[in-house]
Amino acid sequence: MTEPQIVNAHDLSFELMFSEEKVLARVEEMGRTLHEKYHDKNPIFLGVLNGAFIFTADLTRAFGEQCEVSFIKLSSYSGLESTGEVATLIGLTSDVENRHVIVVEDIIDTGKTMHEFLSTLRKMNPASVAFATFLLKPDAIKYEFPIDYIGFEIPNKFVIGYGLDYNELARNLRGIYQLK
Ligand code: 5GP
Ligand code: MG
Repeated sequence: MTEPQIVNAHDLSFELMFSEEKVLARVEEMGRTLHEKYHDKNPIFLGVLNGAFIFTADLTRAFGEQCEVSFIKLSSYSGLESTGEVATLIGLTSDVENRHVIVVEDIIDTGKTMHEFLSTLRKMNPASVAFATFLLKPDAIKYEFPIDYIGFEIPNKFVIGYGLDYNELARNLRGIYQLK
């Protein structure tokens, strides 16, 4: 299926950056890489809502081995910059103690959200924690933590599609689109 080169959401126009084919090929590769390390570990994939819902679905199927899939929802970071706190809206329902956890994110921008969440997660004594993000903006990173699995590094531009929204629209686009 060919996707549009240009899409509109609200008042803005976006152009195709990664086609559906390119996105899915990369997710398959990431799944195989995770398989090498986790195939016998029954890991817990922990998707971060809402943005990572599609990536989590595709990545866990590409992983293709026994695993658990769960989700958490953290508050939007934008309103909380002054406090430095990341509030949890839907918390962990899985028991992660002594389990191998793979946190699945759509995009890491400054890294603040995941940096904060990592300290929460570590208190629950998982056997290991890894981060898998579909997109990373290396020029925007301000909070250091190990990001183990990265789909694509992209320039510091606003993107939508494949789970990522612009004011809640465009999550269901099959490709990744950047602001024109
Ligand atoms: P961080 O805490 O790493 O700065 O922010 C991560 C969150 O900001 C992401 O999970 C996502 O919700 C949002 N975000 C950062 N960059 C973009 C972008 O280019 N497009 C969209 N749609 N959301 C973004
Ligand atoms: Mg997100």
